[in-house]
Amino acid sequence: SVVTRFAPSPTGFLHLGGARTALFNWLFARHNGGQFLLRIEDTDRARSTQPAIDAILVGMRWLGLDWDGDAVFQFARSDRHAEVAHAMVANGHAYRCWMTQAEIAAQREAAQAAKKPLRIRSPWRDRTDGPADQPFVVRLRAPQEGSVTIEDQVQGAVTVQNAELDDLVLLRSDGTPTYMLAVVVDDHDMGVTHVIRGDDHLNNAFRQLPIYRTNGWPEPVYAHIPLIHGSDGAKLSKRHGAVGIEAYRDELGILPEALDNYLLRLGWGHGDAEIIARDEAVKWFDLAAVGKSPSRFDLKKLEHLNGLYIREADDARLAKLVAARMTGADEARLTAAMPALKPRAANLNELADGAQFLIATRPLTIDEAAAPLLAGDAPAILAEVHAALDALDGWDTDGIEAAVRRVADARGLKLGQVAQPLRAALTGRRTSPGIFDVVALLGREESLGRIADRMA
Ligand code: GLU
Repeated sequence: SVVTRFAPSPTGFLHLGGARTALFNWLFARHNGGQFLLRIEDTDRARSTQPAIDAILVGMRWLGLDWDGDAVFQFARSDRHAEVAHAMVANGHAYRCWMTQAEIAAQREAAQAAKKPLRIRSPWRDRTDGPADQPFVVRLRAPQEGSVTIEDQVQGAVTVQNAELDDLVLLRSDGTPTYMLAVVVDDHDMGVTHVIRGDDHLNNAFRQLPIYRTNGWPEPVYAHIPLIHGSDGAKLSKRHGAVGIEAYRDELGILPEALDNYLLRLGWGHGDAEIIARDEAVKWFDLAAVGKSPSRFDLKKLEHLNGLYIREADDARLAKLVAARMTGADEARLTAAMPALKPRAANLNELADGAQFLIATRPLTIDEAAAPLLAGDAPAILAEVHAALDALDGWDTDGIEAAVRRVADARGLKLGQVAQPLRAALTGRRTSPGIFDVVALLGREESLGRIADRMA
């Protein structure tokens, strides 16, 4: 059965590209009723950090990408990697190489002079009389004739001539495994059947396959997915804005289901479906529909999708998220306000901003754009609104609307000419949720108080 994995290096935060790779692996495993594994590739000891590991785990949980079993830490498996390398030496698939730095430098210079890529040719490939007590690296005895073809599920068939590959190092002279070896041994030991990752790793596949082959291990199916680019077509980087997914959660106020949906649609499609729920994604996901060309990240589209998800989201859940972005907001009141706030917001910040009127205290600060709405006849109009509302028995939106309309009709004004000063008085702004909702949500006492502050 299908086993996929996500294998991030914890040297930075979980970024958009990594999150999409994880999502595709997760979906492919779930679609096939298989397993999705997580391996933290922490062998770069200097650059791997605990905060980065935490960011990956937290980010994946936030996106709902649950992995099967415990996360595997690559560094902890170093002995196993070395064991495989030594076994390969013993059976002739690898050899010990005592080339000196000077010899390697000479080959590099020769390659440069000939304007050819460097391909290390070690004299120790065919010698067994090396000084066993001196430091050595272990190199793969790679095939030198023929070619390797990868039937990549996304890129199609890609072929490289073996003559273009060198005998890659499996173990360094200090005995530590290289990345190439560790990835293959781990994927083999973890039973990974499908390697789905960024296409910046396609070249590595040609170096990794010979390790499978010489060991007689089953080869994985490869799918190298195009990287995400910025709006200018260049590979996504910091200068395009936030790349770490926690920034989308914390700073940009994006819901995880919206980010998942957006990342899914970035480079994969199912007809022209835009909104794709989790269960539909699991049902429909396949590698055949992953595009070959890089997709462009577009924050506007993400926010548009986020707005659609906000409209669908549970009010109490949104209230909790929004309360965390405000000081002094009451979750129950926010929940009640959500139906009025949701239709306009593209992110949680806009929801929080729209909810500010709920926590504002008297006398309200009136912003510059709203100030003119409170001039002229406004204080007199507001006095009439105050009287009409004060006379109400109940405090529901319909009754409030009827009262405000009566004031407008009596004065021969359009509704907006009454609603706008009322909005300014109650929210301090020119724009807000529907004005009758605002009055209802603020309650009788607070509404009448704010109106009184601005009336004649
Ligand atoms: N650790 C590698 C990375 O973060 C991924 C290796 C792989 O997927 O094979 O780029």
